[in-house]
Amino acid sequence: MAGPRIGVASLVQETNTFSPKPTVREDYTVLLGEDASRSLAGTNTEFAGAVALLEEMGAEATPLLAAWALPSGRVTDDTFEYLAGLLDRELARALPLDGLVLSLHGAMVAGSIFDADAALIEVARRRVGSVPLGVCLDLHANVTERMVELADAMVGYHTEPHIDMASTGERIARLVVRTVRGEVAPAMALAKRPMLVPAEGMRTDMGPMAEVRSLADSRTAGPVLDVSLFPVQPWLDVPELGLGVLVVTDGDLTGAGSLAEQIAGEVWPRRDRMTTPRLMTPEKAFWAVRESDFRPFVMAHTADCPTAGAPGDDPVMATEAARHAPDLVVLHSVLDPEASRRCRGQMGERVRLAVGGVFGESAVPVEVEGVVTAAGSGAYRLTGRSFTGRQVSMGEWAVITTGNHHLLVSSVPSITADPATWRHAGLEPDQADVLIVRSCSDYRANFPGSAPEAVNLDLPGPSTPRLEHLEFKHAPKPLYPHDREVM
Ligand SMILES: [Zn+2]
Repeated sequence: MAGPRIGVASLVQETNTFSPKPTVREDYTVLLGEDASRSLAGTNTEFAGAVALLEEMGAEATPLLAAWALPSGRVTDDTFEYLAGLLDRELARALPLDGLVLSLHGAMVAGSIFDADAALIEVARRRVGSVPLGVCLDLHANVTERMVELADAMVGYHTEPHIDMASTGERIARLVVRTVRGEVAPAMALAKRPMLVPAEGMRTDMGPMAEVRSLADSRTAGPVLDVSLFPVQPWLDVPELGLGVLVVTDGDLTGAGSLAEQIAGEVWPRRDRMTTPRLMTPEKAFWAVRESDFRPFVMAHTADCPTAGAPGDDPVMATEAARHAPDLVVLHSVLDPEASRRCRGQMGERVRLAVGGVFGESAVPVEVEGVVTAAGSGAYRLTGRSFTGRQVSMGEWAVITTGNHHLLVSSVPSITADPATWRHAGLEPDQADVLIVRSCSDYRANFPGSAPEAVNLDLPGPSTPRLEHLEFKHAPKPLYPHDREVM
């Protein structure tokens, strides 16, 4: 007898509402049906994890679509309509289904829709009817009551930096199959706290969040099917903003509610310990390099980090590196489509051009002069522990070499926390003295040897770790840490 037919769909984008760069249709990679399955097989993605687990459990995995864009500003209304329409169309084609696994980020904002992920779940629910619908989310999701109402079960990543995407897909796929088979009847409750945590403060490998995670793990037994912690990504100005704890039990809604509240109650008193360590000015960071034996010495420009939705166009570290470390081998990057184009056909030539500051706001262009030592375009696969195997592109790119400094200029934001990005451009991060990444935390998983000494740069930008510098208009008040004196 054939197993249950379970649809698998993935629509992932994380919105930074402080980013000046809107997310448009061209920013998405869209794969349909078997193409999605083939391309993602073996990757560390929820989609691949769900498909593999469904097959292992004897269910018929029905791949619908996988659409993915880098984190950025709000998704434009017409892009959202296109995505919702695509999901609806692929679901309609795949019916009848016995269940659905939907992989979302959970912090997507579209035009005027604050809770865009809930709107996608609603599209799916309308199409599939009352069959079990399971949703998996990023740890940085802003989970809302509407999402809880619409889904039968939801789970999130357990790790920050994220390394458990595939196993998160497995967890939700298992819950959906068990629900379809009548083995469990998920009951779900959400507890929230009006607080934000800077990216580095929510690490799950050490510190306060690791303590709460291990408590959550110890309570995941018997009727408690799953416990997820959602320390929401902090660059999101929406109503219902806040840290979430989501508990799924087998049929015990009261038990789910009280456990979620109990665990949220464990997070709240730890809030003052959830801070960003070692924020350093560029000048101090370059001093630290000289006092350290770690190579490459990693510096993270967390405030202009594309994986946190910022454009990645702040070129200030080009100036800082030239001033403080002309003798050190430095790898750094900047987003600039026009500069990338101007390097086209200039291989081996000396160029002088302004780079960065494309989207304005906090980033100001700087002039660089050097030789174009590499250039190219096309797709490659990431090799770090986060997003292992994921195919990405940085559009058209070039390396401008000025003395010991190699600047990777790209037309599409690049994932500089992954060693594959540098190697794709012919640069070896392990041979650099200083590796400047635009990353909030992924570099810790991808450059584990350098992580203990790594520093976060104290610079402004749309993904700043200094959360008090962000001005919220829609978020509830009081909000921690902004109103810490009254909380
Ligand atoms: Zn995340």
